[in-house]
Amino acid sequence: MNIVVTGGAGFLGSHLCEALLAQGHTVFCVDNFFTGRRENVAHLTNGKFHLIPHDIVDKLTMPERIDQIYNLACPASPPHYQHDPVKTVQANTEGVINVLELAKLHQARVLQASTSEIYGEPLEHPQKETYRGNVNTMGPRACYDEGKRAAETLFFCYQQEHNVDIRIARVFNTYGTRMAENDGRVVSNFILQALRNEDITMYGDGSHTRSFCYVDDMIKGLIALMNSDVSTPVNLGNPKEVSIKQLAEMIIALTHSSSRITFKPLPQDDPLKRKPDITIAREKLLWTPIVELEEGLKKTIDYFKGLI
Ligand code: NAD
Ligand code: UDP
Repeated sequence: MNIVVTGGAGFLGSHLCEALLAQGHTVFCVDNFFTGRRENVAHLTNGKFHLIPHDIVDKLTMPERIDQIYNLACPASPPHYQHDPVKTVQANTEGVINVLELAKLHQARVLQASTSEIYGEPLEHPQKETYRGNVNTMGPRACYDEGKRAAETLFFCYQQEHNVDIRIARVFNTYGTRMAENDGRVVSNFILQALRNEDITMYGDGSHTRSFCYVDDMIKGLIALMNSDVSTPVNLGNPKEVSIKQLAEMIIALTHSSSRITFKPLPQDDPLKRKPDITIAREKLLWTPIVELEEGLKKTIDYFKGLI
């Protein structure tokens, strides 16, 4: 198949491109390199890999007939998506319309990388796909959360109005190799701080939780969803919930670090808990994450050791 991956030079996108090439597909990787890097895909020298520097906010055309599109183009870490909030909303509205128009033209199936952030500060725990969320339209995270909600709505509208074949993955916190060093997300921050024996920057008292999925599991989930017949939103993530303090302690132990934890204020609207209910993914995609947090952290630590 001919497959487009927007945001393909980013953390998840580069792993996805690699997996699709390994399955024998031709991959068109579209990226504006805002948070993605050419080095992430430099090893993809297979003649079936095509790198297209492009911003999805501008009209998107393809040189060949396309069968599937994965839309991952959007900065994912809070510091990056808050850097230019208007641009973040644009990527998720104008950009998403361009992606959906491409899907319509080519009659291609299109998958949106949505997010657990659409649930906001959840009042239901764990979060099921039926939960409608609790999001602040005006807070610092709103450009991303509401942008991603609008993107889901646009997908639904194109399905209803233009019969576009859609898939929606609600991706929960994912970590692993090729996270950017300056990404600002908790796993990369804590590992880099621990490896450098610097203070671990804990926002809040560390009792708030996340559920971390290793990248290899997530890529399998995205591909399974794309190739399934499920056109309603599906949570993808690892349901094993840990507190941010537990995460810090694990990373300090695994790196044999002398780092100490310093406490900083919890950013506004930072959700206090998050854990996916993945019953639909388990039952309909026959997908379940298998990489334990300790194992995934070890691989990620080795990756960052190689970088610094
Ligand atoms: P990332 O920042 O590494 O990747 C995003 C990629 O999109 C980068 O390569 C960036 O350069 C590119 N990009 C950004 N805006 C663009 C635009 N306007 N046009 C073209 N390219 C653009 O982040 P990631 O973690 O790989 O996330 C990938 C997708 O998955 C994002 O859509 C994100 O919202 C979603 N997601 C990720 C997580 C996670 O934990 N990693 C969780 C929920 C959702
Ligand atoms: N976090 C932290 N220290 C850091 C980076 C993040 O304590 O250096 C916290 C952050 O406030 C949040 C959690 O870790 O509560 C996960 O943050 P991340 O940015 O990775 O993801 P998100 O908030 O989008 O789930």
